[in-house]
Amino acid sequence: MNLTHLTDKQLLHDTKILAKEDKKLTLKMLHHIREVDIRKLYCDLGFPSLFRYVVQELGYSEGSAGRRINSARLLRDIPEIEIKIINGDLTLSNISKAADKFKNESITDNDFKKEILHTIENSSARTCDKTLSEIITPNSLPIHPPAISHTIVLNDQNFQSLQTIRGLLAHKRLSKDQTWEEIFKFSINHLEISKFKISSCREKGSMNLRYIPAIIKKAVYERDQKACKKCGSKFALEFDHIKPFALGGKTEIENLRLLCRNCNQRSRISAEE
Ligand SMILES: [Zn+2]
Repeated sequence: MNLTHLTDKQLLHDTKILAKEDKKLTLKMLHHIREVDIRKLYCDLGFPSLFRYVVQELGYSEGSAGRRINSARLLRDIPEIEIKIINGDLTLSNISKAADKFKNESITDNDFKKEILHTIENSSARTCDKTLSEIITPNSLPIHPPAISHTIVLNDQNFQSLQTIRGLLAHKRLSKDQTWEEIFKFSINHLEISKFKISSCREKGSMNLRYIPAIIKKAVYERDQKACKKCGSKFALEFDHIKPFALGGKTEIENLRLLCRNCNQRSRISAEE
């Protein structure tokens, strides 16, 4: 493209218009990513996550993909940022930094998020970092974290076990503390049962045929190699009746398979259609 014929004034004018168009296009892309996310369409293409889809299928760098996904998801909670993106008051980079912070600090209050985003409008990346670390302190959070914290040091093997447990519990969307609570509760329960021989009435007394006995779950889990049968993800796995239970599908190994939550939701939606 040769632009040498343009006058200086024209060139500056056109560049400014293009910048505006560019932002509008970015916003349009965010809406599309958001919709693909909601419909979990990346699962159909065999991607284990939206992030992998944006990097591999759409060809964005990992950094750009992260910024776009973070911004698209925040747009869902706070539609007001749309106009700020178009006006150039908020960059994807700053929005993404704020979104990371919200996630790390478990901030869910949208009014509080709006306040923070307002504070970082028109900030350079550096100022944004500084502002975020200054205003989001334990004292400023709507919910105060516990005053005393303890550190646990894990070796590699135990860390891997912890990751496996987090994958298995992912469907519960627990915070770090809640995850530990769940682990301890389960261990105490398990140890008490074996120590005091308390029988688990839930397992024995269940009249619900939909209930999958632990032994069948274990067999399906091993047969399907501890991964989603559709996309191979090891995250948030669920047991799915191949012929739906409601349609007379039996709770037996042959009629069960492992699916990740995303693929399971997708298969339920397409069965209903
Ligand atoms: Zn899957």
